[in-house]
Amino acid sequence: MPELPEVETVARGLAARVTGDVIESVWLGDKPQPLKSPAEEIVSALERSRIAAVRRAGKHIVFDLEQNGSEPRQWVVHLGMTGRLLVSRPEAEVAKHTHAIARLKSGREIRFVDPRRFGRLAVSPAFAAAGAEPLDISLEDFATKFHKSKAPIKSALLNQKLLSGVGNIYADEALFRARVRPRRRACTLTRVELRRLYVALQKVLNEAITAGGTTVSDYVGSDGSEGMFQFALRAYQRHGERCLRCRKTKIKRIVLGGRGTHYCPCCQK
Ligand SMILES: [Zn+2]
Repeated sequence: MPELPEVETVARGLAARVTGDVIESVWLGDKPQPLKSPAEEIVSALERSRIAAVRRAGKHIVFDLEQNGSEPRQWVVHLGMTGRLLVSRPEAEVAKHTHAIARLKSGREIRFVDPRRFGRLAVSPAFAAAGAEPLDISLEDFATKFHKSKAPIKSALLNQKLLSGVGNIYADEALFRARVRPRRRACTLTRVELRRLYVALQKVLNEAITAGGTTVSDYVGSDGSEGMFQFALRAYQRHGERCLRCRKTKIKRIVLGGRGTHYCPCCQK
């Protein structure tokens, strides 16, 4: 499932390609699952709208739309497990599992393709993700949020009501770098540990954004390119391999809150 860095990569790729373009017409497929708003609402919000900006909010991609004589609207896309947003030439073959096509004035098309159909399309007048942005939150607010949680710190990091967009890969990587054991209750972390975790999380997310995200299963960017961050992973799915910090203990895998969790039993306390 794409996480914050992958969604950021897709949003940046789209922003560079379609900002300022105008959606002339919209085609929606007949599968009901991808549509979180009524089809006619999506069509009326998108058609004849200018794309003023494309950005990421949590794990959502938000197209800010401007339409003459109407309130600004947003087209909100969640990629789910296998969703992709592609910018295609009209003559390019329409992929199987294409659920929406927005035809642009420039002649290109934005296509939403999603084989497993966990992705979602919606329109909203003022979309905001539920949790705080991990790259914008202050250390003070970060510490306050996690100090109140009795959940294991790994589960708290994944809680989208606390932070928006952190998923399994980057939670494991941030905890490894901060030397904090995933099972620890969040409220038991000291100020020093919370600070280490805050710094580690922002660092790992920013590095992954720079690398274009992590390619797991079939995630690809808006131009079909693959991310490179999988080569920089230090804990995630390295179970059985030697820890890169202490160089003696093997990375262990446990299941925590139903999610595969990877850590070094020697380095992470
Ligand atoms: Zn270690």
